[in-house]
Amino acid sequence: MPYQVTIRDNNTGEVRETTMDLDIASFHLYWWTYGNFGCDCNRCGEFYSRDPVPEQDVVCGDTRFDLLKIDLGDGRVFDNFQELNPGRPQRDPQPPPSL
Ligand SMILES: [Zn+2]
Repeated sequence: MPYQVTIRDNNTGEVRETTMDLDIASFHLYWWTYGNFGCDCNRCGEFYSRDPVPEQDVVCGDTRFDLLKIDLGDGRVFDNFQELNPGRPQRDPQPPPSL
């Protein structure tokens, strides 16, 4: 079963929800934090999943794309900013729970 992630582009403030076409059975939070998808370059690809990815936006770092929420759809929801973005400063208030 795929799952939903919510990502914010800190350059524009835009928040997008995208569907990860991966089975939740293979979900590991580590992948999104200290793993490959803790990096802006990979989060960028998911943020633009419905559009062509602007090449100039694919930059490694830990400042551009913050992860706001992971909803596995089975009752497990991760929305603690520091848990999802270890070491990143929290820039804005958490999004409303409706997101
Ligand atoms: Zn990277």
